[in-house]
Amino acid sequence: MRKAQPRFARVCECAHANYNMANDLEKIISLCKRRGFVFQSSEIYGGFSSCYDFGPLGVEMKNNIKKAWWDEMTKNHENIVGLDSAILMSPKVWQASGHLTAGFADELVECKSCHKRFRADEIRVRPRSDPQKLKCPECGGELTEPRKFNLMMRTFVGPVEDEAATTYLRAETCQGIYVNFQNVLNSMRMKIPFGICQIGKSFRNEITPGDFIYRTREFEQMEMQWFCSPSARRTTRNGRGTKRGTDAEEKNNWGPDEWFEYWKKERLNWYLRLGIKKENLRIREHKKEELAHYAVAGADIEYKFPFGWKEIEGIHNRGDFDLKNHSKFSGKDLSYYDEETKEKYIPYIIETSGGVDRSFLVFFIDAYEEIKGGRTKTTKPTKEIEILLKLDKKLAPIKVAVLPLVRNKPELVKKAKEVYQLLKLHFVCQYDELGSIGRRYRRLDEIGVPFALTVDFESLKNEDLTVRDRDTMAQERVKISDLVKVLKEKLEN
Ligand code: ATP
Repeated sequence: MRKAQPRFARVCECAHANYNMANDLEKIISLCKRRGFVFQSSEIYGGFSSCYDFGPLGVEMKNNIKKAWWDEMTKNHENIVGLDSAILMSPKVWQASGHLTAGFADELVECKSCHKRFRADEIRVRPRSDPQKLKCPECGGELTEPRKFNLMMRTFVGPVEDEAATTYLRAETCQGIYVNFQNVLNSMRMKIPFGICQIGKSFRNEITPGDFIYRTREFEQMEMQWFCSPSARRTTRNGRGTKRGTDAEEKNNWGPDEWFEYWKKERLNWYLRLGIKKENLRIREHKKEELAHYAVAGADIEYKFPFGWKEIEGIHNRGDFDLKNHSKFSGKDLSYYDEETKEKYIPYIIETSGGVDRSFLVFFIDAYEEIKGGRTKTTKPTKEIEILLKLDKKLAPIKVAVLPLVRNKPELVKKAKEVYQLLKLHFVCQYDELGSIGRRYRRLDEIGVPFALTVDFESLKNEDLTVRDRDTMAQERVKISDLVKVLKEKLEN
């Protein structure tokens, strides 16, 4: 298992100041466990091989990430439809995709430090101290033992475990999209350019999983495959060169290069809009020699993790590799006929491929802040470090908490429970009466609840309560009868 490199949070020494300290993976892992976001899988049996379970808050947050992505693709963009294909597919799919051939079944070693994989028989570099050993030709790091390695997880379909019954758990969701290209095209009467998006589990027998949920063997992907014309259209129907038209008309003339640029920007902006700090994100273009076997061009969106800049999403121009190969292996013609230009071609594909688990980690780390001495200016700073999880409201697992000011006054508890019953029909909501009000606010800040509602003695007279904003700590009184409307507005902005 790959170990996170310990780094220590920069703790702000001045009371009440507010710094981002998200540079300690161990703290993130501990908070995730303590507050029900992520647990080690099969923990009571000592855990299982880099597998993780998402707890009650984790599953809410993960669902919110998936919803934000799905809405982005299917609502904020035109001409993108969804799909949910099976995890198990014909093994021929994996022959056509190249997953069962090429580097996928060689004797491989992986560098424990830079994670590059090499064919064991091609490595010549040995450390002077131990000439029996091989070392990483790129960074000199220690290598894993060589092993016959195929990233695909193999399984059997039916009662007989032989070659004929062998298939694989999918290693990427996009192949399910390619094999359904024609079904979607025909059933939905799609016109190029268009996209198909899918969220689902993928499995890879990673040699060195690690860094918490960054690299696991079972993970979820959010992938969108954009089918476009193989080249930009430079002429209009009357043949006099490109006319400037509406934005949509212009885009209809785009080829793969333009779409590749477009999707890189769109995907980067999605993370920014959901609150990731600009300085922690970058796009890294792939050099020619590192392009995947299917790619014409590629780029990674990278995040500055505590363990370095790492990929969170890949954007590729896959050319016509996928549809061409599936045509060849299946014997089905997967070309597209363009009614307008009267051309027939195999569409090019631009893919955006992100991980749900990796973006979960990114959103969590980026939102994490520690404040030494606490944020409250009205009381003396304490020695404690307060944690604030400044998640975007859309992603926060619990949106609203309802708190009676004290729990030993039955009339306050009764009123708070009434408010909770009212709100839980509309929002993911929590009721909390344990501990002082200050402690309860801290607990809610730590899990990123955007609004805490406190029922106090005035509430009994005036039918109102205080709404506390997580980020500003500002409090305002709101009538209970207006709560649903006010909170909906606040959560949408
Ligand atoms: P890496 O270089 O980190 O192994 P990759 O280039 O193999 O990633 P892709 O095949 O492009 O990854 O997959 C697209 C996305 O799926 C990645 O950007 C990542 O978010 C997610 N992903 C891939 N492999 C894993 C994994 N083992 N665990 C968690 N997420 C993963």
